Amino acid sequence: MSTQTLSPPQSREIVVHDPSTGEEIGRAPLMDANAVAAAVSRARSAQPEWAKLSYRKRARFILRAREIVLDQLEEIAKLISRETGKPATEAIAMEIVPTLDLMHYFAKTTHQLLARPEIDIGQYNLMYRWSYIVYKPLGVVGIISPWNFPWATPLDEVVMALMAGNAVVVKPSELTPLTALKIGEIFKQAQLPEGLLEIVTGDGSTGAALVEAGVNKIMFTGSVNTGKRVAEAAAKHLTPVVLELGGKDPMVVLEDADLENAARAAIWGAFCNSGQACASIERCYVHESIAERFTDLVVKETRLLKQGKASTDAIDIGAMTNERQLQIVEDHVGDAVERGAQVRTGGHRLNDSKGWFHQPTVVTGVDHSMKLMRDETFGPVLPIMTFKTDEEAVHLANDSIYGLTASVFTRDISRGRRMAEQIDAGTVMINEVVYTHAVAQTPWGGVKQSGYGRTHGRLGLLELVSAQHVHVNGMPRVADVWWFPYSERAGKLFRGFARRFTTGSLLSSSLLLPGIIRRLFERRQ
Ligand code: NAD
Repeated sequence: MSTQTLSPPQSREIVVHDPSTGEEIGRAPLMDANAVAAAVSRARSAQPEWAKLSYRKRARFILRAREIVLDQLEEIAKLISRETGKPATEAIAMEIVPTLDLMHYFAKTTHQLLARPEIDIGQYNLMYRWSYIVYKPLGVVGIISPWNFPWATPLDEVVMALMAGNAVVVKPSELTPLTALKIGEIFKQAQLPEGLLEIVTGDGSTGAALVEAGVNKIMFTGSVNTGKRVAEAAAKHLTPVVLELGGKDPMVVLEDADLENAARAAIWGAFCNSGQACASIERCYVHESIAERFTDLVVKETRLLKQGKASTDAIDIGAMTNERQLQIVEDHVGDAVERGAQVRTGGHRLNDSKGWFHQPTVVTGVDHSMKLMRDETFGPVLPIMTFKTDEEAVHLANDSIYGLTASVFTRDISRGRRMAEQIDAGTVMINEVVYTHAVAQTPWGGVKQSGYGRTHGRLGLLELVSAQHVHVNGMPRVADVWWFPYSERAGKLFRGFARRFTTGSLLSSSLLLPGIIRRLFERRQ
């Protein structure tokens, strides 16, 4: 495995391990504040020339990088798999395919998404003036990312930020720096001008240094606690921040749902990526009339899943990426069992392996007093709870400090939509789970403690530009009626404006015309 870096060697290093075997697989520099400041300064110098390029020219670099990703697909998937423990199949399905799609989408459409919109300024238009928006790059964007999707999370934002005309400095998780360095290598091969994409590997101190380094925006993805620290530090410099934080995402299964499909969705939603997705299904609420059949199906299907080191494409569940997360899973399951919950299948780590594997686990008899139903578990556990009415289901879904995504399963789409709109979450899917992060066109982000701001889609792109309003008065020789001098006539006219102009009615405003004309010729003697 390559340990090539894009920056000069540092004295301190991060050692990266394969979570499914514990073997060392590579090293990366642990960069300090000076190295981060130097990277930001290189990015700052490179950005103005990049911003002058047309969207089409910027897109060429993105599409070239995309071709390189396709050529190296197997190698990249293997690297992601070794660094995170997830199967290469899953790395392709959940990380590489969505990113290739996103690269294509933003390369082809950013010019339309950021086209200059004219603003309808109502009756001001009649005074021969007009307004429009210019979307300008922010400058240097800092991206701080976690370990669970070490390829897709930073790369998606890199692509969007570059297309918007920014330079980017990426601080990947200390658990997965090699995948981030690979992203840097690919853009280097795509001949992206030097300095536009800097990768600063390191731990929390490196991330904190990036927040202090005077970038124009921070796109942070990670835990709630770190998100709060980042927001606090950024506030000192008034650096804007997008926070993509944790989740405790609910899935509601109504009594008319297709049970088999809902069960398969619940299993994939809870166990894909070993349950380490911010949008994993972490709470499943099932109508009491179908709960037993649903649970039996879920347990039966879960027992068929293949878990282990992902040496073939036919492994469903790999290792967890780190032991700390595995301990949290054990703690949550233990707490639930102590409080009376029943483990229906799974329930333990795999002791016969050197890696960090936790069995896919289904738990019933849970309630909201348990950590398993309150705190982010971020592991392969599916707790199932019953409800009696739609109102109760909505109440349970909303009874959380988080609000990232939610799912409703029903054959009645109108009923699903009604329920979706009552759930407090950034995204609600009907008859779907987890996957809309892969739909480049749609916004991604949460409410409540799941964060603020958006990534992906047009709303995400707008986070990476500054919207400048340009207003034109097309009659440069005519003074405005509200300019000095103030006078009795002016006062009378302004009162007329208050009563008539602000109604938006042209007819009503037209009665002001004589006063306006008199006022235009008014001068103080
Ligand atoms: P984390 O908060 O521990 O770390 C995230 C990143 O922040 C890492 O790169 C880390 O080095 C860096 N960091 C740590 N301290 C810092 C500081 N003081 N200043 C700046 N940066 C600092 O999160 P994690 O354990 O890597 O990731 C798991 C979390 O991420 C989960 O809560 C998960 O739900 C969340 N997540 C959210 C989304 C989303 O889109 N909402 C996506 C993926 C993961």
